[in-house]
Amino acid sequence: MGLFKRWILCFLAFKFFVPKPVSSSPEALAQIPVDFLDLSKKPEIADYMIGIRRKIHENPELGFEEFQTSKLIRDELDHLGIHYKHPVAITGVVGYVGTGGPPFVAIRADMDALPLEEAVEWEHKSKVPGKMHACGHDAHVAMLLGAAKMLQEHRHELQGTVVLIFQPAEEGQGGAKRMLDAGVLKDVDAIFGIHVSTLYPIGTVASRAGPIMAASGFFDAVISGKGGHAAIPQHSIDPILAASNVIVSLQHLVSREADPLDSQVVTIAKFQGGGAFNVIPDSVTIGGTFRAFSKESFIKLKQRIEEVITKQASVQRCNATVIFNTDERPFYPVTVNNEELHDFFVNVASDMLGAQNIKEMQPVMGTEDFSFFAEAIPGYFFYVGMKNESQGPLALGHSPHYKLNEEALPYGAALHASLATSYLLKNQLEAKLLKGNLHDEL
Ligand SMILES: [Zn+2]
Ligand SMILES: [Zn+2]
Repeated sequence: MGLFKRWILCFLAFKFFVPKPVSSSPEALAQIPVDFLDLSKKPEIADYMIGIRRKIHENPELGFEEFQTSKLIRDELDHLGIHYKHPVAITGVVGYVGTGGPPFVAIRADMDALPLEEAVEWEHKSKVPGKMHACGHDAHVAMLLGAAKMLQEHRHELQGTVVLIFQPAEEGQGGAKRMLDAGVLKDVDAIFGIHVSTLYPIGTVASRAGPIMAASGFFDAVISGKGGHAAIPQHSIDPILAASNVIVSLQHLVSREADPLDSQVVTIAKFQGGGAFNVIPDSVTIGGTFRAFSKESFIKLKQRIEEVITKQASVQRCNATVIFNTDERPFYPVTVNNEELHDFFVNVASDMLGAQNIKEMQPVMGTEDFSFFAEAIPGYFFYVGMKNESQGPLALGHSPHYKLNEEALPYGAALHASLATSYLLKNQLEAKLLKGNLHDEL
């Protein structure tokens, strides 16, 4: 099917769905238009989400340990009468709203917190020492539950099934991959994911078609020499100097070997060795991350990191071992937004927020394990703004000063619900068009 036809269908799907007022008449129920943003701003949804978000914020849990968060989600789904699967990938939950049959469209939230001590003093501050929701995943869960509540209220109008994915361990451990391996996207046609953003104003969204976030990997390297007295270096093999040269050489990978137009990063963030002023240690451990925007560049970078570390260490008579430990920290693929879903998203979001509030963002070297989902099926990831100038600047994610603007919750829930329902309706219209009987509907 041509792009133009697809666009027409998108347009039709949305025009059918949204502008008409909510009605309970049987005709309207068949293709009920719901203005999800109005609905999600009502206290029954907005306050519901605020309550959930604060509960989760008070009890942050790290990756694959989200037991209470998972329980809270299941309790809410039970309460809403939504059928779900659990456990998936230890703490993950997958809910189903709608007909229970195809087509299936997924909307996703991540559940994990960060190992940070919250520095914000407020009523619902983290009660767990050393753990904090500083990336907004508490809000992501609340938004998805808010969307679930609205969708469940209108389940009879859904033209298929919305799959609610609550995944563990986004922050480095690749919970999405575990969910994917467990088969949660089987028969699912498309998936949407949201992240809150302190960079964009409230009431706006930001994304782009194609690659949006980098592929990433982590590594450790142990550089071993021979320890001894700091004043008699000729009897030692100094791993501190070797590691220093390794680090300098690694900087040349991006500056000298990579295409300047192909964004890549190599950062050494860890340097551990020695504990005395007058002792050369036996070994040094360094560690860091590498990022790239294509699979090819990523693989090349990984191979060169290994070579440079081992060979440069040997120049100084040291041995080096490089460990990628992908069981604990899997490589994340590039997050690529599907082009057709981008057009679809822009249509849906423009109708909800106005075209001027849909921002085109630049790709970033950050990562998202949503990339695993978007690698498997057409996926789309976007940011929901929460900056409010009157409240002053917000700290960036992963800061102990991170503060979430709860006004963003209704936007996230409304976008989730609208994208899912519109997508299902679009699918149905496309199927009818293919059968050649769309004109009967018009
Ligand atoms: Zn994060
Ligand atoms: Zn995050």
